[in-house]
Amino acid sequence: MLLVVVTKTRPVRDIRILADLGVRDVGESRHQEAEPKVEDATGLDLRWHFVGQVQSNKAAAIARYADVVHSVQTGKVVDRLSSGAVECGRTIGCFIQVKLDDTDTPAQARAVRGGVDLPEMMRVADAIWSAPPLSLLGVMGIAPLGADPRAAFELLAEHSRRLRAEHPGAAAISAGMSGDFEAAVEAGATHVRVGAVILGRRPPLG
Ligand SMILES: *Cc1c(COP(=O)(O)O)cnc(C)c1O
Repeated sequence: MLLVVVTKTRPVRDIRILADLGVRDVGESRHQEAEPKVEDATGLDLRWHFVGQVQSNKAAAIARYADVVHSVQTGKVVDRLSSGAVECGRTIGCFIQVKLDDTDTPAQARAVRGGVDLPEMMRVADAIWSAPPLSLLGVMGIAPLGADPRAAFELLAEHSRRLRAEHPGAAAISAGMSGDFEAAVEAGATHVRVGAVILGRRPPLG
């Protein structure tokens, strides 16, 4: 299992400390914040994971530094990550973010928690599959707030089985944050994304 330490809102100083402690995988969720931090942290031999919503007009820029994107949801983002990666001669691992919240949440909450349904997951998977600089790693999910995360992570595991039926190599599951990582690991998570349990509570996002 791979631990991704999410460093959003934290200074690069903290990232250097993590690197000294042997952490290799760090995650950021906002491009505007990530881009300068990646620049400041060059030489630390880190793998950068982009875990937040990808705006399609930022995707090519994200492709310049992200080694893994956990939150791919649209064909447009696939195209732009792909051309960005080609331009830089890099490859990018991709997770497809799956919708785990079946309730009628307000548009705002939906935008934050995000994710695609099963048919859309298959379409996005095929798009990633046919983009040479992108490799299809698997599925990612965020459990809805205020509900039992186990049901959500079971649903994610089911999406993973469906994806693997078509793309056997795409076996990774990115799931679990500070509040629910135990349930995610029990449900088969291969990549856990945690910030607060490692770095302490974070100031609210501005
Ligand atoms: C912030 C964030 C995390 C980490 O959250 P913590 O509660 O600090 O562990 C994980 N995944 C995503 C998508 C995030 O935005």
